[in-house]
Amino acid sequence: MSEVLVLVDHVDGAVTKPTLELLTIARSIGEPSAVYFGGGEVPSVLAEHGAEKIYQLDDAVYSDYLVAPKAEALAKLVTDASPAAVLVVSGGEGKEIAARVALKTESGMITDAVDVAVDGGTVTTTQSVFAGNFTTRSVVTKGVPVVCVKPNSTSPEAAFGAGTVESVSVDISDAAKGARIVSSSEKASTGRPELTEAAIVVSGGRGTGGDFSEVEAFADSLGAAVGASRAAVDSGWYPHSFQVGQTGKTVSPQLYVANGISGAIQHRAGMQTSKTIVAVNKDEEAPIFELVDFGVVGDLKTVLPQATEGIASR
Ligand code: FAD
Repeated sequence: MSEVLVLVDHVDGAVTKPTLELLTIARSIGEPSAVYFGGGEVPSVLAEHGAEKIYQLDDAVYSDYLVAPKAEALAKLVTDASPAAVLVVSGGEGKEIAARVALKTESGMITDAVDVAVDGGTVTTTQSVFAGNFTTRSVVTKGVPVVCVKPNSTSPEAAFGAGTVESVSVDISDAAKGARIVSSSEKASTGRPELTEAAIVVSGGRGTGGDFSEVEAFADSLGAAVGASRAAVDSGWYPHSFQVGQTGKTVSPQLYVANGISGAIQHRAGMQTSKTIVAVNKDEEAPIFELVDFGVVGDLKTVLPQATEGIASR
């Protein structure tokens, strides 16, 4: 089976769920090898999700500088290993690394894939475009396919791989050290689960009128993440990092609760694959009701406190 490289996205050794999704996809098209930039013990979760090999690149250059050293090292691995594909999480850093690797290895790159498969020996990708209205299939015609896969494209499945760790050292060029990190600060934690990883997401829209307290209280009663529509974000009521939709995050939780959100196509693009969808909206004609499994017609200021109280009393 051909090797498939998976770039590991992690925070201080805590591997993100989208990386585990990539390992699951990699297993379906070949033999996964994880590429882990970091020191210490390699996270066991990588082998537990099927990584046969783990390339460990432990050097301060990868944390001291922006993405160029990582891209240079990954490109070297791609050249040496000639994998069937390279899978990267489709996010800001992932896309930048992928673009640099594709350029350095003279390969084609595909962004925002929602599925990756092998068809007649060729790696093919599926992309969902125009807010989920069209599905395109694409193949890379030059070099090694470098594919950025959207979070929540699949569910991570555990499967034991050998997890053989291979320490890799790459001489990073001065050119790649052109931009150094001077300081970084951790973003204040909300104490809630990460939006793209949460099993339950409770979102608020324009219908909140700018007061997210009921939405947050309900989310907390369920241990859920909080999301927001673009109308709420554009109004300055909630930070952009919590926006769900075409120009925000894609979520696919077990339960998605939309509160005071009309259900515009661009919002749906980020949540329509949720397993169970519930909406609270005072307009029974709101388009979100076409999509839901359960709908409550009512004012969220009345419905949500009752729901929160109901859950708390259980
Ligand atoms: P509205 O459409 O104004 O709906 C508010 C809803 O709240 C209404 O249905 C109303 O009946 C209900 N309501 C009002 N008061 C209450 C109450 N007290 N209780 C219960 N219900 C109440 N949008 C996104 O969300 N995410 C995106 O990523 C995104 N990307 C976009 C990209 C592009 C290129 C464009 C053009 C648009 C994008 N949009 C996106 C915007 C999108 O088209 C909608 O404008 C937006 O989703 C509307 O947000 P909303 O549902 O909160 O507001």
